[in-house]
Amino acid sequence: MRLIQKSNKLADVCYDIRGPVLEKSRQMEDEGHKIIKLNIGNLAVFGFDPPDEIVHDMIVNLHNAAGYTDSKGLFAPRKAVMHYTQSKNIAGVTIDDIYLGNGASELIVMAMNALLNNGDEVLVPAPDYPLWTAAVSLSGGHPVHYVCDEQAEWYPDIEDMRRKITSNTRAIVVINPNNPTGALYPVEVLRDIIELARQHQLIIFADEIYDKTLYDMAEHVSMASLADDVLFITMNGLSKNYRSCGYRAGWMVVSGEKRHARDYIEGLNMLASMRLCANVPGQFAIQTALGGHQSIQELVGPGGRLLKQRDLAHQLLTEIPGVTCVKPKAALYMFPRLDPVMYPIADDQQFAYELLAEEKVLIVQGTGFNWIAPDHFRVVFLPNSDDLSDAFGRIARFLDGYRRR
Ligand code: PLP
Repeated sequence: MRLIQKSNKLADVCYDIRGPVLEKSRQMEDEGHKIIKLNIGNLAVFGFDPPDEIVHDMIVNLHNAAGYTDSKGLFAPRKAVMHYTQSKNIAGVTIDDIYLGNGASELIVMAMNALLNNGDEVLVPAPDYPLWTAAVSLSGGHPVHYVCDEQAEWYPDIEDMRRKITSNTRAIVVINPNNPTGALYPVEVLRDIIELARQHQLIIFADEIYDKTLYDMAEHVSMASLADDVLFITMNGLSKNYRSCGYRAGWMVVSGEKRHARDYIEGLNMLASMRLCANVPGQFAIQTALGGHQSIQELVGPGGRLLKQRDLAHQLLTEIPGVTCVKPKAALYMFPRLDPVMYPIADDQQFAYELLAEEKVLIVQGTGFNWIAPDHFRVVFLPNSDDLSDAFGRIARFLDGYRRR
């Protein structure tokens, strides 16, 4: 029999958040083990419920949600996104510039597929949310990683970015607030990146899906609000800020220097048409969420559950010898560093695998986020405080044993 093989297009595509370690964890669960999951930013499964009004309106609207919609989405939720962009000071966005998708994920893949020819380069952060690297590769492009500097609050290293721009570079991806580091970039850093894009005529893809998940009274500035002479594609959605990962509701906004991008926009429109439309109940949810009570504030503000868990997780992690971690200012994650002398890890996937097997705690290895060395890992701080204490106790015990090997 002829072997059925995956396409060559997948040769460089990697998405380790749902990779072999998760597979092992599933297997262990099937065998009856209880695993503490610090691996995925899936809020609802940790008791962070979506706002009631979203659920209610989706149920009420289900009867109206059985048909296809316009490929870009229903008018009312797109109008709600348009108002949202206005509230974030993004100028000149019309309803035509807004695309609704099955989560931001679908739109990220679509945006790359519409843009890239074989060999085109896209600057992607290291560490990154790995869908970006994977989407560039799948589209025939070549992801080039610029370093985010742990010594500088994980801000992008602008000089590294500058050095890596070539005549093949088409775009820069900026994930702000950042997954996996929890960094929130100051306006000066955003302006420096925009200046590079301006000089080299690059598109900026701004992934701002955590723009309301902010701690310590921090404020988020949308990159697209800072210039109108660069093309911005801004990604956002309900998954995180509205605890609705499962509703698969996201959006993409084209803004800034659109005049020279007519052909690209035609490509986006074609790909949006080919998948007909985003799931319609999710589209209804967008309208209610953006117009409704912004209950995320109660989770991230003083006394909020997410804030308390961030503080607890950071304290427990950094009490472990040889573990350091920049405290996240936003999002749901921490990306701690393991001192390579104390913990000489050669293969961090194997490290995650052993932690799982020995202590039943599931993390994601740093190289899964295209980090350059096997000396980091990512955790979420979503389990309740008791589970977090339990999990970090186990990680501490495992690391103690690792040091003594
Ligand atoms: N962008 C970032 C930075 C993310 O962390 C995620 C999900 O974790 C996504 C995009 C995808 O979100 P969605 O659920 O809207 O597809």
